[in-house]
Amino acid sequence: MATIKLDIVTAEKLVLSDEADFVVAPGIMGELGIFPKHAPLLATLDVGEVRVTKAEEVYSFFISGGFIEILPEQITILANTAERAEDIDESRANEARDRAEILMAQQGDNISFSQAEDSLKRAAVRLKVVQKKRASRGGGLAGTSLDG
Ligand code: ATP
Repeated sequence: MATIKLDIVTAEKLVLSDEADFVVAPGIMGELGIFPKHAPLLATLDVGEVRVTKAEEVYSFFISGGFIEILPEQITILANTAERAEDIDESRANEARDRAEILMAQQGDNISFSQAEDSLKRAAVRLKVVQKKRASRGGGLAGTSLDG
């Protein structure tokens, strides 16, 4: 079966560089499902989960928005921030969610409300990615490849 090269990068680090069978990314207009040989496309990404299927295993990543470049043989995700499921600090995400909920309840100005809303969204997706990881039988990732 054909595969497609996938790189997930931020300004600070290379999070993943591996071959994938199928990739789902959180486009701002909805999820993008990408198989090898996809038509070229450049799109903006939302805060969300990137799901990577390789050899019938699905690996999950958190990204806080960014851009995706799709070419027939290569996908590049340039994310604002990106974390592998196993690198997400659950207590930090829980604290961020609680802080955001308190700020939203305080009904401050529109800017702080919308910042708190964005922060809540990041925390909620991080927690979802962690919880899915816990529920799955998948092993941990090593280095920047999916199966170590
Ligand atoms: P917090 O309020 O906890 O700082 P945040 O959503 O504001 O969260 P970001 O701006 O998205 O944080 O990220 C800042 C840096 O911290 C990035 O390098 C990101 O990967 C990392 N980071 C943030 N939250 C977590 C987390 N829960 N687990 C692991 N890394 C995290």
